[in-house]
Amino acid sequence: AEAHRYAVFGHPIAHSLSPEIHQAFAAQLGIHLRYETIDVPPGEFEEAVRRFFAEGGLGANVTLPHKEAAFAMADERSEAAQRAGAANTLTALVGGKVQAHNTDGSGFVRDITERHSLDLRGHDALLLGAGGAAKAVAWALLDAGVQTLTIVNRTPERADALADAIGEPARCHTRYWDGLEGECFDLVVNATSIGIHGGTFDLPMSLLQDHSTCYDLSYGAAAASFKGWATAAGTRYFRDGLGMLVEQAADAFEHWHGQRPDTDPVYQTLRQRLG
Ligand code: NDP
Repeated sequence: AEAHRYAVFGHPIAHSLSPEIHQAFAAQLGIHLRYETIDVPPGEFEEAVRRFFAEGGLGANVTLPHKEAAFAMADERSEAAQRAGAANTLTALVGGKVQAHNTDGSGFVRDITERHSLDLRGHDALLLGAGGAAKAVAWALLDAGVQTLTIVNRTPERADALADAIGEPARCHTRYWDGLEGECFDLVVNATSIGIHGGTFDLPMSLLQDHSTCYDLSYGAAAASFKGWATAAGTRYFRDGLGMLVEQAADAFEHWHGQRPDTDPVYQTLRQRLG
């Protein structure tokens, strides 16, 4: 029988780890599937997804810069997708309809609470960034029970809009990037693309306490700049986004196939290769 078809859409996408991760999950569970990368420029995203589904594709993962377009084109949207205003997982429904879902927030929390055994309840968390991934992470942190969430973003209006959408002023508020002097946090999460596009983490060293965790959504070489700041500020617990990558893939995989893969062997293989 012809293998069921899945794909990840992005631009660029050639170096995506998603095909390897999904193929490894499928092999584990004895599921026969084909998972490819599809590179499309922004203006051609929707047409390319519709063609893929019309030709028998069953599901698509979506990454930069298409997550908002993926959300916009969908006929049905999960609560997680609505909260982020973005989708990283699309599913073909009968009649040519498309369902949007977002597993970035759940993948992040699963990595931090299960793989890294960090209980987020009662934590004061600082979130750097207010883009698509930051939105998903903000809601997930609040769901996971953080005591307070402070959001800072280069463009402060985007941080304010996110806090307004969350609508819990007693728990979630914004600060200016240069207005953090005198504050300290249990958890600092980098959800900016500074590691990819360049820029500096111009933040007070006093943000961290002895036990504070620093978590970067980036991984590989892109995690170097935030790690540099975190190390200088004295963190003993630095985590990069490789675990989140594997967990968001596992949540998408479970959404499509109804079975949960064991993420550890896949994570360990990638960790050994990427350092
Ligand atoms: P977006 O483009 O939606 O958001 C980028 C964010 O970075 C914005 O908040 C932007 O601020 C900020 N930013 C960019 N450049 C600078 C700078 N020079 N100084 C300060 N802030 C800056 O990207 P995403 O939210 O989709 O992704 C963010 C990061 O998370 C990426 O590195 C991505 O690879 C990673 N990611 C990792 C995942 C994983 O599974 N590990 C999953 C999803 C994302 P402004 O609003 O001012 O432009």
